[in-house]
Amino acid sequence: MFIKTLFLLLAFQTFGFSLSLSLNLNPSELTITKYHYGDKDITNRILGDFMVYSVSLNDTNKWKATIVQSINPGPCFFIPHDNEQSSFKSAISSLRKYGGSILMIESNEKRNFRGIDPNRNFYKNNGYTRKIINLIKALQPKGYPIITLHNNQDGWSGNGGKGTVSIYKKGKSTISYFGDRPGKLKDEDYLIYLASTNDKPSKFQKDMIKAINLNVKYEIVSRSDKSLSNFLSIHKPNIFYLNIESEHGDSINQQKMIDIVFDYLSLEETSINIFE
Ligand SMILES: [Zn+2]
Repeated sequence: MFIKTLFLLLAFQTFGFSLSLSLNLNPSELTITKYHYGDKDITNRILGDFMVYSVSLNDTNKWKATIVQSINPGPCFFIPHDNEQSSFKSAISSLRKYGGSILMIESNEKRNFRGIDPNRNFYKNNGYTRKIINLIKALQPKGYPIITLHNNQDGWSGNGGKGTVSIYKKGKSTISYFGDRPGKLKDEDYLIYLASTNDKPSKFQKDMIKAINLNVKYEIVSRSDKSLSNFLSIHKPNIFYLNIESEHGDSINQQKMIDIVFDYLSLEETSINIFE
């Protein structure tokens, strides 16, 4: 209980109302402003519950991001693909339940921004990478995982489907673990991605894979594909990072996956409310 209270105090001081100060970043690197109305993703109802900030990375490519933040501390959800609307919905409902924050790349509701995939743009000596990772770290209270959310299309091209992601897809550098939960949760498009440079999961990862009983794809990273998961596996292996994917249009089951993972990690639902 004491720890929880301490977290809350920290949240008020460093995350709640002075985000730009707590980030301690050079203003020429990033501009963070309280949200202006107009983005399709953000409704007045959401603004009523959360603080919303618009971020400019002040670089030549003019990357932009949005931060949505609950007053309650919790995990940071990263959404690199602006067209994956169900991930946004799942993240918002998770913020209501668990607190935390969302960092999402703005790309006019499309996957790529100026021809670049925001999740194939993480590499060394790159301003985008440095700034996004600094933001995530600033939004991340100690002890919480970083969770990237994605949506994918039904099936995959190798079995007549449309997508590129499937638990059935075999690869030299991936190991698939099949979950056995009822309904959509065992569908091929619903999976957790874990990545590491180790050729098999750690004891912690193995225990988690067994306990959550969801489809898990373990990726052995050798050469980075410039995704955030590959970059972190190679350069920041101590950061606890995972990826939760569902089909487009199904935030209900994506939320169930988040609940199962959080339950396993003993992340409590929070009932603390700024208005109480
Ligand atoms: Zn995606």
